[in-house]
Amino acid sequence: MRQSVRKHYRKLAQFAALGNLGWGELFRHNDFPELQKLKPEAEHRPLLRRINRAFDSRFRALRPQAEVPPLFFPDWISCSPEVRQQLYAYALLRRVFDSLRFLTQRMGGLKSGGQSMQLFLEVRESKDGSMLRVRDPYEDFLAVLSDCDLRRLRSCPVCGHFFVAWRMDQTACSKRCANRLRVARFRQRQPQYSANRKFRKRTGLSAVRQGRHQLMELNQALAEAENHELQKPEALSEAAELRSWKAQK
Ligand SMILES: [Zn+2]
Repeated sequence: MRQSVRKHYRKLAQFAALGNLGWGELFRHNDFPELQKLKPEAEHRPLLRRINRAFDSRFRALRPQAEVPPLFFPDWISCSPEVRQQLYAYALLRRVFDSLRFLTQRMGGLKSGGQSMQLFLEVRESKDGSMLRVRDPYEDFLAVLSDCDLRRLRSCPVCGHFFVAWRMDQTACSKRCANRLRVARFRQRQPQYSANRKFRKRTGLSAVRQGRHQLMELNQALAEAENHELQKPEALSEAAELRSWKAQK
């Protein structure tokens, strides 16, 4: 069963890993511009090279063909042929990243919703002079999404990276992040745990697996009621006055 989930979600996991290149840029270089704000022949030259290298080493299968001039980029004409190719790779990464962010955020508690994404219409002339459409690799990403239960697509609460949950109860991207999450949650609940221990010590009750919090709440409510009565001297004195008035009658 586990194996078949891995097989079925392998391509989605690959796109999630691709999207994480965006987080890598943001965490390490604090810069991951939208396509329109990219300065490919100036300040963003190293960024484009890094992304390009990552496509070569880890995401060769996802690399766009980049057969035609990137007319989607306003200043494409002033770019070198090498950069024009890299623009395609960057455009795919940026769109996958934005899509994964949309898919892993909670849409304000809604169970359904949509957002607008750019799809490139690319055409080229073939050898016999006919005009053909070239497939945009973002379409492959959309096709992979159509075949998956997108609840498995998540962003790690510890490191923020996108991941595919192989098990539905998987809460973090890796064992390391899952451990850190457990420790953080334990610390958060520490006051509750020590209250539980004190309660058991005071009452001599052993730890219960279920219904412990109801027991704790009941105990707390009783203790509060006791305190409330003790801390209301006016109420007590009123009652005493009433009693003595009744006795006089
Ligand atoms: Zn993580």
